[in-house]
Amino acid sequence: MEKIILIKYGELTTKKVNRNLFINKIYENMHNALSNYDVKIIKNRDRMFIETNDKTIDNVVNIVKNIFGIHSIVITCRVKTDIEEIESSVLEITKKINFKTFKVETDRADKSFPVTSMDFSKRIGALILKNIPNIKVDVHNPEYLLRIEIRHDYTYIYEKEIKALGGYPVGIAGKGLLMLSGGIDSPVAGYLAMKRGIKLECIYFESPPHTSIAAKNKVKKLVSILNTYQASIKLHIINFTEIQEAIYKNINPEYMITIMRRMMYRISEKVLHENNCLVLINGESVGQVASQTLTSMSVINNVTTTPVIRPVACLDKLEIIDIAKRINTYETSILPYEDCCTIFLPKHPVINPKLEKSLEYEKEFDYNSMIEKAILEKETITISLNQKTFDI
Ligand code: ATP
Ligand code: MG
Repeated sequence: MEKIILIKYGELTTKKVNRNLFINKIYENMHNALSNYDVKIIKNRDRMFIETNDKTIDNVVNIVKNIFGIHSIVITCRVKTDIEEIESSVLEITKKINFKTFKVETDRADKSFPVTSMDFSKRIGALILKNIPNIKVDVHNPEYLLRIEIRHDYTYIYEKEIKALGGYPVGIAGKGLLMLSGGIDSPVAGYLAMKRGIKLECIYFESPPHTSIAAKNKVKKLVSILNTYQASIKLHIINFTEIQEAIYKNINPEYMITIMRRMMYRISEKVLHENNCLVLINGESVGQVASQTLTSMSVINNVTTTPVIRPVACLDKLEIIDIAKRINTYETSILPYEDCCTIFLPKHPVINPKLEKSLEYEKEFDYNSMIEKAILEKETITISLNQKTFDI
């Protein structure tokens, strides 16, 4: 009897045409996520199997349960399809579990097996009743459900089924560029985008010396947390100081944030094209701050024709925080380091900016050459699973 992890696919099973693409992507992502483990992954059309040893099985399950595109993970005992062997294994497994009521469910995928599913369930049920005292069968609401799946060579006895995250395998939808600040919202936006199959690259704007190394390391740390879902993530770091200082010097304070965000979008769009990303992703949420009113969003968005996905646009802050806590980014996000958006912050940013005024103010300085320079000098790093953590 050996333990095998059985992977059931999610939503993709209904998408016949893309099925192989989906399965291959899950396989690839799983392979990357488990690169440090001694495992054998076997894929077939309706499920995947991971063979590993008893010592690492829990770690492997913990990693695999965060791979998008998987519906559930079953820890099974695999035995030869042989009635005696199945029976002795069932007893070995059930004797270790505490329960008062139970039910056996058999799925006979191999019709050459001589006993029908129904009869086999009854037979195993009787065997358990005979060997374990003080228990009874309850077909409607059993405390313990024992599942047996009979296939041609092997039979799988389910020990535990764990629900996974669902979604689509990361990368199946193409690449997106996430505008990642050190805040609460953008890592959550990145997570939600990955859940729909988008592979992330990230862009971070820093303004040294006004923003610190600690602030940058915080962003790197956030990326490394997102590695849970995508084993390797590129981070583009843009030095935004010159542009920000020019804005501070030349722009009406009311419009500083509007113009600053228009600059961020312009740079992000160029980096997106250089890196074959298809969409921008950010953590904007309608109404949260002055730059996220619908008028502000439309004036800011006006600099680009690239689709912008805002996964948390319609979530309440508390809903975003819930997700941030669940995906483990919250504790890092709330560390108190300055973001380039919070320095030089005007007291009264405009809530309903006008496009014409923005265009007029922007004539005050030669932002195009500054943008070119910032992109030319950008630093790009790749942050991967199992890499050292970032000291903050
Ligand atoms: P967050 O919690 O994600 O920082 P926020 O509520 O503080 O968001 P803003 O600071 O207005 O909102 O930023 C809105 C979005 O713009 C962020 O979610 C992020 O996607 C992007 N953004 C802001 N600052 C930066 C930055 N320094 N680098 C990259 N992207 C940024
Ligand atoms: Mg922010």
